[in-house]
Amino acid sequence: AWHDIAEDQTTIAYPDDVLSSGRERSRGLIADALKSRIDAVDHDECIPGEEDAFFVADLGEVYRQHLRWARHLPNIHPHYAVKCNPAPQLVRFLASLGTGFDCASKSEIDLVLSLGVSPDRIVYAQPVKTNSYLTYAKSRGVKQMTFDNTDELRKVAAKCPGAELLLRITTDDSAALCQLSMKFGAALKDCPKLLKLAKTLGLNVVGVAFHVGSGASDPLAFKKAVSDSKTVFNWGHDYGHEMKILDVGGGFSDDSFDDMAGVLRAELDEHFPSSSGVRIIAEPGRYYAATAFTLACHVIARRVVESGDVEFEGPEGSVRSVDDKAGEIVSPAASNMHNSGDHGAFDLAEEREGSGSESYMLYLNDGVYGNFSSIMFDHQQPIPRVLKADGRFFYQILTGRRITYSIWGPTCDGIDCISSRVELSEKVEVGDWMYFEDMGAYTMCSATRFNGFPDGHDVVWVGADALPGFGL
Ligand code: PLP
Repeated sequence: AWHDIAEDQTTIAYPDDVLSSGRERSRGLIADALKSRIDAVDHDECIPGEEDAFFVADLGEVYRQHLRWARHLPNIHPHYAVKCNPAPQLVRFLASLGTGFDCASKSEIDLVLSLGVSPDRIVYAQPVKTNSYLTYAKSRGVKQMTFDNTDELRKVAAKCPGAELLLRITTDDSAALCQLSMKFGAALKDCPKLLKLAKTLGLNVVGVAFHVGSGASDPLAFKKAVSDSKTVFNWGHDYGHEMKILDVGGGFSDDSFDDMAGVLRAELDEHFPSSSGVRIIAEPGRYYAATAFTLACHVIARRVVESGDVEFEGPEGSVRSVDDKAGEIVSPAASNMHNSGDHGAFDLAEEREGSGSESYMLYLNDGVYGNFSSIMFDHQQPIPRVLKADGRFFYQILTGRRITYSIWGPTCDGIDCISSRVELSEKVEVGDWMYFEDMGAYTMCSATRFNGFPDGHDVVWVGADALPGFGL
């Protein structure tokens, strides 16, 4: 199925303009969905939970990322990293697109298999596996898995001897948001010993895996990792293993994908050309999930900061600039969205009163213990945008007027800060909503129920028609 899509792609002239107009279309669809969902809430009379934070997810965006992948990396078969966002609808959509899956645990394996995906499309990409999970993987026919140490090899020999093993090696992930190589991966110098032990234990090593770090920013990390992989392939052959799979891991993100893919392609062409017969797979997570999801939160409380109050410094990176992601939202239904200084019916004169010195603390019904867990665990800096209670959207702030806010989650903990300082031109009131784009990666999967707030939030799905025949 993957190759069909990749081949279609070369004939469908999909390319850059479709990609960018797709993004605009996506914003429009998401805006309409936000609006109708919020309009459906009776803010005065609703029962607890009806005004909870919720996501809008555009599967069309996932599809566009998939086509973009096929265009830039046609010879690399993506295995979506389920940990990034295990929403079953998303996983099923990707299964329909023909991707494989990277699973890290029994429940991720179960999720993927429950959707009718064959076990040979799964790589159990967790170098340290629970014994009973290994037995389980064997019973469900999941054979491809990674390892990086001698103890793991002995466990695999005992519990899952028919495994097809990928030797995970370390990378230079110093430029990545989330570094993984301090925890996982065998040093190059240790690989011969591991390959030899695997042979002695009668295990099959079939290839090499690496990960350049999640949120990677240095494409050169791929250069070294691919050439190291080639070295390990040669050693593997020397020890009598049939080396046939290279897993280039994750680390791709929307902004840097084209550059990363260019470097990776060139390096693979040099060390693993198609004539080598090596099957190349990857484990992208963030790349597929991040941009498709927008999170809407309700402003549940506000506090005026009097002049003379000490300003909260906040965690590193918690100061947001709202102008750095400028763009336009085009949506017929949300035609009263404001992208510039033209505020239409909005009475600027009245709102200008007191400008320059206004400062508020805003409290939302989601925070770092919830879907903004990405601030702590994934080093994200979500950008707040305003959605007024009367339905007016504000995407890009271009007026000269600035009101200063700090934005907080709903729990009793002071660490629950979404942004310690952001300047918006809008006066945000209790009862308004705020929305945050690019919230699909490492958000809901690491939310907690701290303080009794829910860890599961509704997702309004749009764009499912991107894939004909797919139903939610
Ligand atoms: N593969 C493995 C083994 C990982 O640990 C991760 C993330 O931690 C991924 C894939 C997904 O990475 P990303 O979301 O950066 O693509």
